Amino acid sequence: MRETRKGMLMVISGPSGTGKGTLAARLLQEDPSFTFSVSVTTRARRSNEIDDVHYHFISEEEYDRLLAEDAFLEHATVHGHRYGTLKSEVYERIERGQNVLLDIDPQGARNVMAQEPTCVSVFILPPSYETLRVRLHTRNTDDPVEIERRLRNAHGELEQVYRYQYAVVNDDLDLAYAQLLAIARAEKQRTIRYFPVVED
Ligand code: ADP
Ligand code: 5GP
Repeated sequence: MRETRKGMLMVISGPSGTGKGTLAARLLQEDPSFTFSVSVTTRARRSNEIDDVHYHFISEEEYDRLLAEDAFLEHATVHGHRYGTLKSEVYERIERGQNVLLDIDPQGARNVMAQEPTCVSVFILPPSYETLRVRLHTRNTDDPVEIERRLRNAHGELEQVYRYQYAVVNDDLDLAYAQLLAIARAEKQRTIRYFPVVED
């Protein structure tokens, strides 16, 4: 049997600390058909982060230059820092049949959904605000002021869940991952991106 396959653009979004990065990392590790779109950001690199792996860490001037060049599929200011998805991280891979995962904030997700209606959108929710607070503190990557800012923003972000095709509550990690994988598996078989041809 012959087949052609176009890649899927999967957008994962949700409040900071809800577990998007954890779930995305597991999907990328276990399913090689997925690749990560490395965003650019002007925020400072955290000690556990690697440049060009977790983000392309760039200056405000470089960010402005990319904006002027129309290099972004979407871009947004999130928690006071600038982030953007580069077109160059997305379109060529999709044409080659690779699936591309975006971990972006709800503003950015909304823009991608408007521009790319065939994208797959998944919103990750925490089981409670208290759990979110505990996770942000346990992750130990942001100071208490930044954590409070992220928690305040979470309330507005969670109201956006209805804009997404899928919702996953990340309480038990294995269960949430199984749900994400089920979404990915079903979406791979959709005829908008998968064309099986039955031979004579
Ligand atoms: P996000 O990318 O959404 O900001 P992370 O993936 O960094 O969130 O997760 C925030 C913290 O919560 C991390 O320390 C991570 O190990 C932890 N975490 C993620 N999912 C779960 C879960 N289901 N149960 C308990 N802790 C979790
Ligand atoms: P963090 O600073 O914790 O890595 O990310 C903060 C927020 O920015 C998260 O909600 C994350 O999904 C979002 N984010 C990361 N990259 C991008 C991007 O390229 N575009 C947009 N719009 N949001 C992003």
